Amino acid sequence: MPPDHPVWRSGTFVPWDRATVHASSVGHASVSASFEGVHAYRGADGGLAVFRLHDHLRRMLNSISWADLVSPWSLEELVEATLELCRRNDRHEDTYIRPWCFAAGVHREQMVPAGTEVEIIIDVWPFRSKLGTDTTAKAAVSSWTRFGANAMPPQLKAFSNYHNGRLGTNEARARGADWPIFVNQEGHLTESSGANLAIVRDGVLVTPWLASGVLDGITRATVLQLCRESGVPTEVRAIGRAELLQAEEVLFIGTAAEVLPIVEVDGRPVGQGTVGPVTARIAGLYHDAVRGKARTADGARPFHPEWRIPVWG
Ligand code: PMP
Repeated sequence: MPPDHPVWRSGTFVPWDRATVHASSVGHASVSASFEGVHAYRGADGGLAVFRLHDHLRRMLNSISWADLVSPWSLEELVEATLELCRRNDRHEDTYIRPWCFAAGVHREQMVPAGTEVEIIIDVWPFRSKLGTDTTAKAAVSSWTRFGANAMPPQLKAFSNYHNGRLGTNEARARGADWPIFVNQEGHLTESSGANLAIVRDGVLVTPWLASGVLDGITRATVLQLCRESGVPTEVRAIGRAELLQAEEVLFIGTAAEVLPIVEVDGRPVGQGTVGPVTARIAGLYHDAVRGKARTADGARPFHPEWRIPVWG
């Protein structure tokens, strides 16, 4: 993107290279900051549409209120701001949308007080989807425990939460893998640093329940719904670490990860060490959903036009 491309900042469009904050507001004042990652996909009809935009922005408003901060902007105002930002940036191809927020103003006290208003920024840039490619990844179970819900709520998408994820990611990379898998204090599987986790056992897609301490992922919800509508059996429950050894397939699901097959965990192949049939099926269903591929004549393909918010009307 050119350095003067517009970003949305608390109600106005400003050139990216002039959307600055004072250095004093970076540091402990940004501890409560939170963000979202959203994808807009060019659809089967050629038009760009944002996938589940309301759900992402609703989650950011929840992150703000659960952190005892206040948004001056409503859901509908943020939806309209996002769509207008895509238009002002003349986006027609696949686009990553990054809304984020932090306490407005300069705060010198260590704890930003409850009730502080946030600034909200939205930026966009191109991304390349891996759906329909043969991308796979390797994972490593992290020696870092996932922070528990009594430490900080995993359902709040605060930047602070990502320190745990970053430590695990660095460790995974040092061990020759791509991404970590975290267990919680009970030893149950949770998620990766930026994606939810699922395994396949006896053809059933199993994903940790929220009580294990995972983000209430929008892709996770999408995949569970698509599976139910397509006859793929699902279970949502606590998953023991040893089940990773028993799993026929392991996959990451998330906006950025999309549906990512994990073919190796801790140096051991998962199943045959190739993309399994359930993962391939789910990746296909997800791909059709984000690109808005129409219902087949026999109605076999789930069709959710309500998930795709058109940018260009
Ligand atoms: N877990 C974590 C820690 C994440 O950062 C993400 C990405 N937002 C996810 C799961 C997946 O969430 P979603 O499908 O809503 O993008």
